[in-house]
Amino acid sequence: MVRVRFAPSPTGFLHIGGARTYVFNWLFARSEGGQVLLRVDDTDVGRNTEASLRSIMDGLAWLDLPWDERHFQSERRPLHVQAAEALLASGNAYRDFTKDLGRREEAGAGAPWLFNPGMREMSAEESARRASAGEPFVVRFRVPRELPGGVAFRDLVLRKQFRRYADIEDFALLRSNGQPTYHLASSVDDRDLQITHVIRGQDHVANTFKHILLLKGLGSAPPRFGHLPLLLGPDGSKLSKRRHGALVSVSNYRDMGFLPVGFVNYLSLLGWSPKDNREVLSVDAMLAAFRIGNVLRTNATVRFGSGRQASDVDPKAVWLNGQHLRKMPVEELVPHVEGALRSAGLWTDDLGGSRKEWFVAALADLRSRMNLLSEFGTRCRAYFSDDFEVQGKARANLAKDGVKAMLRTLADRLELVGAFDEATVEAEIRGLAADLGVKAGLLINGSRAALTGQPVGPSAFRVFTILGRDRAVRRLRAA
Ligand code: GLU
Repeated sequence: MVRVRFAPSPTGFLHIGGARTYVFNWLFARSEGGQVLLRVDDTDVGRNTEASLRSIMDGLAWLDLPWDERHFQSERRPLHVQAAEALLASGNAYRDFTKDLGRREEAGAGAPWLFNPGMREMSAEESARRASAGEPFVVRFRVPRELPGGVAFRDLVLRKQFRRYADIEDFALLRSNGQPTYHLASSVDDRDLQITHVIRGQDHVANTFKHILLLKGLGSAPPRFGHLPLLLGPDGSKLSKRRHGALVSVSNYRDMGFLPVGFVNYLSLLGWSPKDNREVLSVDAMLAAFRIGNVLRTNATVRFGSGRQASDVDPKAVWLNGQHLRKMPVEELVPHVEGALRSAGLWTDDLGGSRKEWFVAALADLRSRMNLLSEFGTRCRAYFSDDFEVQGKARANLAKDGVKAMLRTLADRLELVGAFDEATVEAEIRGLAADLGVKAGLLINGSRAALTGQPVGPSAFRVFTILGRDRAVRRLRAA
């Protein structure tokens, strides 16, 4: 049974890179019929924050790709310490009593620091004696030093990987305060939680050599590893909050009005694409097409628009979201739009009750021009509220010579027609234009402006029927 884990540290908000790692883990495991663990890497107790944990949990829940188990690594600390003790007992680890922390890992001339010889070679008796005398120490892994040996593994993405022992330092397992390091906690939990595949960013490749040594030292077979390409900003530097601001935060995408599936689809294409190069993929389509072996080895670039505003996300992401917004069954879109309308203060309970049918039908039309959920609360405001502004081009269309008077006449006529459907509305508009000797476009654009405040939208005749006769006539007159 395939089991993967996503191990975010609750020391910052959930960012695009972390979410991409989660999505790839999830797609891989689920496409193999396997399980996904959310394993909160809260071992660095001093740096954890509640807010960060909340951001991670909320962000992951929003992606709507459920996990099977949740673990907190800090709760497993006794198991980590036990493993360090086992490694000490088997001689795979040793105590390092070096006092001068600054000098402890000081490099020799040109060569990288590997270990402190006096410590690595200390007899077991002396080591035990100094420890029981209360002298503080760090526990380090004893990396084999036979040359020209090294650690090799076959990465699921990067293929053959090798590092010489001479390039791996005796890394710490327990800090002098007794806290397990990331290397120890991560490897022990991978073993104990029966993780079969570790999928994480390429920045972890150097760690993987250590984790393989550590697990072998514990007598366990290491899992398979797959390292995902790094995400770079448009300036070619690694994505970071400092450089790229809110654009890297998952909550920014949610607040902007992305659908979970639109955002997940976008993330899935950061370092992967299906063989047939399709881009708009439902979760099922992603699952059917995902192969870890097709993940790219080259860095993926997250493109932003021109500026640095939070809304300036990759136009491709926005486009993808629009595709999903139009393709999904409209009933599935309803709760998402409800959320957007609530945020905009436009939700009224009748939209979920007596006017639900109207609401669903309206969405089916309105979505044809929308890319983001938030647009239902901005560009579609006039469909949900009488309090809207007439802007720019729409205002100009209304201001054209004689248009307002024509709309008044149109209102009078529409009040009298029998049925109020698109065909009737169109016939009335064209008939009036002919009677007045003006182009129908003048009336069409003018009514759209009067009815919605917008210069574009669904077919103008449809706009009338979505709003209904009363509202339409009232707005024509009000204009
Ligand atoms: N907390 C680590 C990180 O976010 C986990 C790395 C791993 O997956 O092992 O980088």
